Amino acid sequence: MNDPIVVALDVGGTGMKCALVRPDGTVAHEERHPTRAERGPEAVTETILAVAGGLAARARADGFTPVATGIAVPGVVDERNGVAVWSANVGFRDVPLKELAEQRLDLPAALGHDVRVGALAEARLGAGRGRQHVLFVAIGTGIAGGLVIDGRGYPGAHGAAGELGHVVVRPGGATCGCGLRGCLEAEASAKSIGRRYAELSGEPGATAFDVATRAARGDELARRVWQDAVEALADGLLTAQALYDVGVVVLGGGLAEARDDLLLPVRAAVAGRVTFHRSPEIVRAELGDTAGCLGSALLALDSLKGSP
Ligand SMILES: [Zn+2]
Repeated sequence: MNDPIVVALDVGGTGMKCALVRPDGTVAHEERHPTRAERGPEAVTETILAVAGGLAARARADGFTPVATGIAVPGVVDERNGVAVWSANVGFRDVPLKELAEQRLDLPAALGHDVRVGALAEARLGAGRGRQHVLFVAIGTGIAGGLVIDGRGYPGAHGAAGELGHVVVRPGGATCGCGLRGCLEAEASAKSIGRRYAELSGEPGATAFDVATRAARGDELARRVWQDAVEALADGLLTAQALYDVGVVVLGGGLAEARDDLLLPVRAAVAGRVTFHRSPEIVRAELGDTAGCLGSALLALDSLKGSP
């Protein structure tokens, strides 16, 4: 019999990362497509189904047997029912993607949240492998998290667990997109770091990357903005540790590209705060932007085994 393979898609606001993934987590084929979200959710849904169908056909042509489809999307995701409930940047409103994919491809399908399946991949195949309690935190335009216990993601009662970005770390602080003030995301995301530095320096185009490189070169303002974000992040991680008591925290997303310029001060800031807590190890993600794709494949394989 031909080797089994999973059709995996990670749908973002600007692009879709797609792959054929073997059950052991290795990638047999990869491709990328633009999402073109401005066309509206119906057109995006059709593109997702067409790309998935194309991947399944390619798998068969290459001698594989497609066994399932895994799709990851951002926003609020009802994993149990396979519905993309809401997404700001793709425009989904109650799209039953699991059912639509099953009809189109005639294969079992699973739908997951992009960051939570990324967490699943990092916990099982990446920086958290071999560990039982893993918290993955993606820091990019926003901040989101995913908790993985014994290799299983924790979605929460309403598919909204892990929203570490909306833990308030600076009461009365910067206004967040969610409507609250002082959320971690409003204080320490790459976007908020760039914005803060731009406001204080008068350079409108400054990015978090600029702040990191200037801070490393000794620019005093950049160091202050960077350290403020690090302190906010440490406060958020300490809250998470009090709740979850994980063994390892995996930092991913664009901001983690700063490597030791982020990891070392975050480790120090967390270490300086712990009291009764047992400190988690804090490490950098290993799978980069393929984590979502790999995680959606793992989720699909798990669903075949009848796991929740
Ligand atoms: Zn918020």
